[in-house]
Formats: sequence, structure tokens, C-alpha cells
Amino acid sequence: MVEFSGAAGDGRPPGAEGDVEVLVVGAGITGIYQCYRAREAGFSVAVLEAGEGVGGTWYWNRYPGARFDSESYTYGYLFSRELFEEWEWQEHFSAQPEIERYLNHVVDRFDLRRHIRFGARVTAAEYHEPSGTWCVAVDGGSQLRARYLVAATGVLSVPHVPDVPGRGGFRGEQYHTGRWPRTPVDLAGKRVAVVGTGSSGVQIVPAIVGEVAELTVYQRTAHWCTPLNNAPITPDEQARLRAEFESIRRTLDTSPHGFLHRAHDRATFDDDPEERRAFYEKMWNSPGFMKLTSNYTDLLFDPEANAQWCGFIAEKIRGIVHDPVTAEKLIPKDHRYGEHRPPFATGYYEAFNEPHVTLVDVRETPIVRMTATGIETTAGVREHDVVIWATGFDFGTGALARMGIRGRGGVPLVEHWADGPRTYLGVQTAGFPNLFFPGGPHAAAGNNPRYNGDQVDFVTDLLVYARDHGFGVVEVDAAAEEEWTAMIDRNAARPPSFGAASYYFGANIPGKPRRYLLNAAGRPKLHAMIAEIVANDFRPFRFAPAPAGTGADATA
Ligand code: NAP
Repeated sequence: MVEFSGAAGDGRPPGAEGDVEVLVVGAGITGIYQCYRAREAGFSVAVLEAGEGVGGTWYWNRYPGARFDSESYTYGYLFSRELFEEWEWQEHFSAQPEIERYLNHVVDRFDLRRHIRFGARVTAAEYHEPSGTWCVAVDGGSQLRARYLVAATGVLSVPHVPDVPGRGGFRGEQYHTGRWPRTPVDLAGKRVAVVGTGSSGVQIVPAIVGEVAELTVYQRTAHWCTPLNNAPITPDEQARLRAEFESIRRTLDTSPHGFLHRAHDRATFDDDPEERRAFYEKMWNSPGFMKLTSNYTDLLFDPEANAQWCGFIAEKIRGIVHDPVTAEKLIPKDHRYGEHRPPFATGYYEAFNEPHVTLVDVRETPIVRMTATGIETTAGVREHDVVIWATGFDFGTGALARMGIRGRGGVPLVEHWADGPRTYLGVQTAGFPNLFFPGGPHAAAGNNPRYNGDQVDFVTDLLVYARDHGFGVVEVDAAAEEEWTAMIDRNAARPPSFGAASYYFGANIPGKPRRYLLNAAGRPKLHAMIAEIVANDFRPFRFAPAPAGTGADATA
């Protein structure tokens, strides 16, 4: 429990040092936008950010090679045409430094920095029933009180490092890709290990291969990695992007997963083998997610169709990787394309042709422990100066579960979600009035900022509605939450019911309940539901006036 000091004679929670109407946690892409929307709507707003700068996931994931794998201009904000026109992304898939610069630009351009407190990690957040406000404790001892608490804490913000025996006794350096230091890490001439071959692992391997003395890649699951096909954005393309702002926004708004790519209109076996091969070549050479979004229509539905595409990729891997044994290890044998989130990279397979790179298949030779100087597998010890954990995240619920959130009756959120998250629209959960979590569990299954932005818009409109009608307590109906969550689970079980073994279901974290953590229904469906809710005076949300004299309304 948070021990708020002081007396509470007026129904207000005791001891809170600052009052604010909307308190946002996290200054990532979602939190920045929530800050902007709430401020523009006339609320007093403050943002607490654990990092020393803005960016959230794009602040912490500053490992070499970190970059978008959705097109830059589809990932950035679309709420301001001026912003879109004045920021010229350098690459179709921009790298982390440019992304961080962009987010700093946004914060300064819209004068949001003064609302953000950096180095402020929330350690507890409790709902105070008599006042209908949230009492929030920050690492270091300060406390704030908010009418509304918006946790924009992201889905990929809590790094997962496997519990390898002896890890603490390793005398070399250790880093997780999701907590990469701001000070430069010198890998030159070192014996480096990368553990994990998901999207982060396949980005960092080619980025560091040229500088390290020795690189060992520890792979548990081989993934269907395909080329990102990145390129600089030419001046002509820049001009076209600016001219097409409205149509880009329209296309993104009607795309199921928030991409510009057009769906294909043919199924795999509509084409003969020669046509299919030519089409697959086109896909292989296409940018990023197009290989998923514009591939044959039956790719994810017909196992035979999926096997054809996988066969093509396997052939490519065999063609790139000189050593046939390594090539075979790099070809996934245990899952179809799309069953895990497909990674995109530049030069990943090529890296294994370097004489100083070794692939260790930890299914064949499992990691036994870490020694003081390296990693021991059942095949022996390999010496390392640096171990890089590219081992993923406690996805979806990780950050919310660590914020000490307690709702009505002091019920911990982790207890309410003991069997996995239950939400309504992925923005609120029953029993936790005035708490919202756009961009959290049950948010995107596609281009994150697009879904998360929809949720921020919805939350802001909901709060404006409450204010305009004299309400100060907003809580979703439990039956609606049950219905929405059942819809999420139903959709997750329907073909293509991929991902049961992946982090989409929390399967990467020992002991985590297996429950779908995204929303597979697509963005147009979300828009339709939101439109209906708005038309129905925001039912099934329930509203009540704020208890008298308890307004958390000071300007932040
Ligand atoms: P990830 O996809 O969860 O991959 C983690 C990797 O670590 C997997 O290969 C996993 O193997 C391995 N691993 C976990 N525990 C292990 C253990 N005990 N021993 C050996 N290997 C172990 O994590 P990520 O690569 O950080 O990517 C997470 C998500 O972040 C991505 O899916 C994507 O959504 C996002 N991301 C995006 C970008 C981008 O947009 N450009 C870049 C990076 C990440 P298993 O597969 O066997 O579990």
C-alpha cells in the first residue's frame, strides 16, 4: 500500500504534492500523443517518464541496428499536417537515432516538454474511492494525485532476461537490447555473444558483425527472417509524400493493420509454379511487412500455401549461407510463416558467412549455465567478453503489472488479471475507475502507433464527454469487459490461429498465463465499435459526478 502522509479531513487523499486532471505515465509515442490531446482538450496534464528522455520503447531500444520495420511515415504522427510536411524522414525505415530526434522535435514543437517529469518511475498507483482520484507514488518518494490516470506504458517495455544459472557471476559486460545504455558501448575487438534471434537479434547481428573479434549467436528458435529492403527517401519521394498526406492518412485509416500496402488479389495456387516463383521474388524484394500484408491471400489460412512461401525462403537461406549445416539450422522447422512475428533485417543471413561468426543452436546444445568468462552449453564453454540479451520482453501486461496498481477495494490489478488481461476496447478494465491504458494489452495487431492513436483519441473524447456532463468518475461495465475479452479470445482461436507458442500469448515468460495479448479484429472494426459507443453516449461506460470538493484540477 502507498503510505500517503498527512491528514485527509476533506475527503481528499492525504499527502499528495501535486494535483492534476490527467496524469500520463510514459513519454513514448502513445504518452506524448495523450499529453498533447489532453492538453489541447483543456485538461491540466502531467507526464511521468522513467527515462531521462522521450521515446519510450524508442528511447530504451538504442542498440546498434535498431530501426523501424514499418515505413517511417506510417509510424510517425498524423494528427498534424504541418508536422508531417516539415519532418523529412531520411529513410523508408529510419534508425533509432532519427526516431528519437523526431520524438524530441514533436515534444518541443508542441511545447509538451514542460509537462514531462523525467527520471520518474511510478512505484504505486492506488484508487482513492472517497475522492474518485488516483494517488500515484514515484520512485524517490514524491506523490501525485490525478483525476484520471493514463498508463501509456507500452507493450514492449519490460525486458526479459532468462534465468540462466550463474548469470550474476559473469565477469564480462551484459546488456539487454531493450535497455541499451546511452553511453557508447565499445564492442570493437571483443568476443561477443548475442542470445535471441527475434526482431532485435536479427537487427543487432549485422550491425555489429564488422567491429567485433568474434560473434556467437545463440539461437533457440529459427525465425522466418526476410530482407527489410530499406532505402533513403529521395527528394522526389519526399515531395510525393507531402502531396499525398490526406490519401496516406485515409489509406492507413482503412487498412486492417495500419499499413499502406495493398492486399494481393490472388491465392497461391491460382498461379503456376513459374508465376509463383516470380511473385515470391517480388515479395522477397518488397519493403518490410509487405511480405505479410500483400502476399497471396491464403498465406495465413492454407498450410500448403504457407509451406510454398516457407520453401521459397528456405531456398533463399540455402543460397545465401555458404555452410550448409549453418543454413539448415537457420531454417525454421517448427512453425509456419506468421506464427511468430516475422523479423525483417538487412544482411542477417550474410553475417554467418563471416569466419568469426558462429551459430549455436541451443535446442541441440542447450545453455547449461554462465561461467565467470562465458556461456556453457552441453557442447562446452565459449568465452565471451560481452553477452547481449536479445531475449524479448514481458509483452503486453509487463509494465502495468509492475506499477503497483490497485483499484476499488484495494484490489491489485495483477489479481484482477491473474488469468490474463480483461479489458474493454483495450483501454479500461472494470473495478479500476478513471484508469486507462491505451497502447497496452488488447491494443494493436499491426502498426502500433495507428491503433494506439485511435485509443488515445477515444480516451480523450470520453474524458471530454465526462467533463461536459459534469462527471468525474468513469468506469466500464464489467459485463462489457467480459464480452470484449471473449471476442478477443474467440478471434485469437479462429484461423489463422497462429502464435500460441509466441509472446503474443505470453508464452515466452515462465509462469505467465497463456492469453492472447493483442486485438486481432483489425482497425476498421475498432473504428466501427468506437463510432457506435460514441453515438450511444459512451455506453457501456458508466459515469458519476466527482465527490464534492475533490477536484484534482490544478494546472501542472
Ligand atoms: P522476441 O521476438 O521475443 O525474441 C526473443 C528471442 O530470444 C527469441 O529468439 C527467443 O527464442 C530468444 N530467447 C528467449 N529466451 C531465451 C533463452 N532462455 N535461451 C535462448 N533464447 C531465448 O524479442 P525481440 O527480438 O526483442 O522482439 C520483440 C518485439 O519487439 C518484436 O516482435 C517486434 O514487435 C518488436 N521489435 C520491433 C522492431 C522494429 O520495429 N524494427 C525491432 C525489434 C523489436 P524463442 O523464439 O525460442 O522464444
